[in-house]
Amino acid sequence: MIIVLFGPPGCGKGTQAKRIEANSSMIQLSTGQMLRDAIEAKTEIGLRVKESMAAGNLVDDETVIEMLAARIQEPDCVNGFVLDGFPRTIPQAEALDEMLGRQDLKVDVVVQIAVDDEALIARMAGRFSCVKCGEGYHDTYKPTKVAEICDCCGGKFFGRRPDDSAESVGNRLEAYHRQTEPLLPYYNSRGSLIPINGLAEMNEVEKEIKAALDAA
Ligand code: AMP
Repeated sequence: MIIVLFGPPGCGKGTQAKRIEANSSMIQLSTGQMLRDAIEAKTEIGLRVKESMAAGNLVDDETVIEMLAARIQEPDCVNGFVLDGFPRTIPQAEALDEMLGRQDLKVDVVVQIAVDDEALIARMAGRFSCVKCGEGYHDTYKPTKVAEICDCCGGKFFGRRPDDSAESVGNRLEAYHRQTEPLLPYYNSRGSLIPINGLAEMNEVEKEIKAALDAA
């Protein structure tokens, strides 16, 4: 199955994609994570996108499309995947349909996780994650059980994304409304869109998504 998790930055796409991956044979494909890895590895792409990504702007279509097209050819994608953060523009959605079509595949379901801007700002402002295992936390909603020790791996070092700063969050939401939201009618007209209330508690959102996928 090929699933698109659709929604604004901070709506919980990453968390839910990881949960689907843990409970199925599908893998999570996060273009944001691929770009962060490229920045960390100081590749040509990483060096090129670092500044504009930190400012909260979208990376150009050509770069992300090429990156994703190469990634879905890898063997671990054969049992299906959950796209987390792609597509984010109409040209990306069209390119995705085309690259899947060449392999007789298609997007099976688009899950729209709906959250309003106010809640998103509060969520992103408090996010941090364990440097060692990547587990995500939040200052208010999901602190570590023991102060400054990762619940999952015992790690003691945590990081915050540079694009979770107040200024970048504003840019990311603006980019979402202007460039990504127009994808809703695109997928709605194809009958593949399933809306989910992303304001609910994480386990509840997970249940709703599971029910939607089982019914698809
Ligand atoms: P995310 O981890 O999905 O929140 O993405 C973090 C950042 O990576 C975004 O704010 C963009 O700068 C960049 N990015 C990730 N996916 C895409 C995409 N599909 N198109 C353009 N930029 C992207």
